[in-house]
Amino acid sequence: MKLPFALARRFVAAETFEETIPKIKTINESGIKVTLDLLGENVKEKTTADDTVQIYKQLLNKIHEAGLKSTISIKLTMLGMDIDQEYCKKNLFDLLELAEKLNSFVRIDMEASDYTQQTIDIFKEAFEKYGKHVGIVIQAYLHRTKKDIPELAELGADIRLCKGAYKEPESVALQDMEDIRKAFKQYAKILLEKTDYPRIATHDDELINFVKNYTKTENISKDRFEFQMLYGLREETMEQLVKDGYNARIYVPYGTMWFPYFKRRLMERKENIFFVLKTMFKK
Ligand SMILES: Cc1cc2nc3c(=O)[nH]c(=O)nc-3n(C[C@H](O)[C@H](O)[C@H](O)COP(=O)(O)OP(=O)(O)OC[C@H]3O[C@@H](n4cnc5c(N)ncnc54)[C@H](O)[C@@H]3O)c2cc1C
Repeated sequence: MKLPFALARRFVAAETFEETIPKIKTINESGIKVTLDLLGENVKEKTTADDTVQIYKQLLNKIHEAGLKSTISIKLTMLGMDIDQEYCKKNLFDLLELAEKLNSFVRIDMEASDYTQQTIDIFKEAFEKYGKHVGIVIQAYLHRTKKDIPELAELGADIRLCKGAYKEPESVALQDMEDIRKAFKQYAKILLEKTDYPRIATHDDELINFVKNYTKTENISKDRFEFQMLYGLREETMEQLVKDGYNARIYVPYGTMWFPYFKRRLMERKENIFFVLKTMFKK
């Protein structure tokens, strides 16, 4: 059964790129940049992964032609990581060739912990070859992040720090929100000290305020990092951050394969379920 897109409209911009363009323009007009995500994950067929690479390339070209202030975010399982690591790497590099040519940027989202090592391995190779045109995401809840963050920061990688969105076992990830926040703060400090331009991805006021206060006391200027949030969440907070002189970027997902993303948003915050129920029952 196909669920109606109206359900996901709060969290997903549209089902097509053409319908997403005006939304990106509106966000850009309020001084906020975008990272665009074509939704989908865990592709099992080479033909689908090949098509995905072509769509991503068209996206990079169209973003460039339309003059949008937007980069793209991708998932390696969309580029064939479940099929073959070398094949997936080839697809990513193919995309990065174009990103380099257009002076654009591709962010590799981080998926469930089964993929962390492969994602970091592929990222490191990509970073060596394409430098500032590629970045990665690191999840504060993973135990292994203690080791990954200093290592990647030392390389000078462009890192988006988030809490982590997948259900992971206790052996792999912190479970308690206070512990996750503590870890997030510690990693944010490392990134702010050691990397050129960390991306702080959270809707959590405690973490936002921590970063604001820490950068103020340490004299780290507001243009040395950015805050990132997801489409449809905390728009007023984002606008206020921009008014206060901070850089901000919204992660804008679009596409027909929105269900897994939509489900993660519902699972992580009960208020999100209420928003959806309201949409369902609104005449
Ligand atoms: C730009 C971006 C990119 C991401 N990329 C990835 C990725 O590649 N891989 C991955 O695993 N995860 C990713 N995530 C998801 C992330 O890991 C978390 O699952 C998600 O952001 C929820 O954690 P949180 O810190 O934002 O707030 P939560 O832990 O959901 O909430 C903490 C507190 O923040 C406040 N809050 C949160 N939301 C709201 C709201 N809408 N309105 C008012 N207050 C609110 C409340 O006080 C709440 O108690 C990304 C998140 C962002 C923002």
